[in-house]
Amino acid sequence: MADRDGKIWKDGELVDWRDATVHVLTHTLHYGMGVFEGVRAYKTAEGTAIFRLKEHTQRLFNSAKIFQMDVPFDQETLAQAQCQVVRENQLESCYIRPLIWIGSEKLGVSAKGNKIHVAIAAWPWGAYLGEDGISKGIRVKTSSFTRHHVNVSLVRAKACGYYINSILANQEALADGYDEALLLDTEGYVSEGSGENVFIVKNGKLYTPDLASCLDGITRDAVLTMARDLGIEVIEKRITRDEMYCADEAFFTGTAAEVTPIRELDRRVIGNGGRGPITEKLQTLFFDVVAGRAPQYKHWLTLV
Ligand code: PMP
Repeated sequence: MADRDGKIWKDGELVDWRDATVHVLTHTLHYGMGVFEGVRAYKTAEGTAIFRLKEHTQRLFNSAKIFQMDVPFDQETLAQAQCQVVRENQLESCYIRPLIWIGSEKLGVSAKGNKIHVAIAAWPWGAYLGEDGISKGIRVKTSSFTRHHVNVSLVRAKACGYYINSILANQEALADGYDEALLLDTEGYVSEGSGENVFIVKNGKLYTPDLASCLDGITRDAVLTMARDLGIEVIEKRITRDEMYCADEAFFTGTAAEVTPIRELDRRVIGNGGRGPITEKLQTLFFDVVAGRAPQYKHWLTLV
């Protein structure tokens, strides 16, 4: 990733991709306290547009606030910088990665007084769980690793260090021949994937875990809104893994994963073993929305 042409926005200016480096004594590199976003821009008939830029930028600032990191830029500046990075790299559709981290002034656990840095990079990134996954669904394994507890990690924040837990779960699932992991919370209820929120469909209703232990996903919110607008009843509640085995349909949502059906969990085939009809309806609408083909959701798009 490091050795390529292009521009990265770093602390207020565009620098060459290869020059966007940090020192090895960077605080965040040692202790993991940094915050980031995953954002996508899509090609639309009117030009490239970022999906829910305002919400992603707000969540980035919320994450920083939770960790008492004083971001040296305002939200408008970082929103415009995300557009600028997409434009400068001439990307039609891409993934955007804003990152806020703590500098290298000193390396004790206390980061008080260290400089806060911001970078924004963007690059092309296709279907996170594969094109086949989008159309046919993926195979998922319940992880032996538990999701963060809200009093251990503050899960409203999208924080660098939290992804150790995601990587452990994802590594285990892939090593066992699955496509992705499903993590349970500390009480054993379904929480989320390693980088996705999770939904099930049962008897025509849509269910997703409440926000106690999972990330407040922006795609999750979009799917809940779209489902309500389509007249589908949505319920946020605790979900058990056996409830998932017996669901009619299941799917993951996320900026990277978009809307990816789950066809199997722990070797139990879910529903018809493919992309269920409600999943397909929501997925189709989602791809119409991000491509600017659904006028009622145009307010979610920001042309770069
Ligand atoms: N949960 C986790 C742990 C994630 O990393 C992500 C990806 N950001 C999500 C859920 C989905 O969130 P969003 O739809 O905002 O990308």
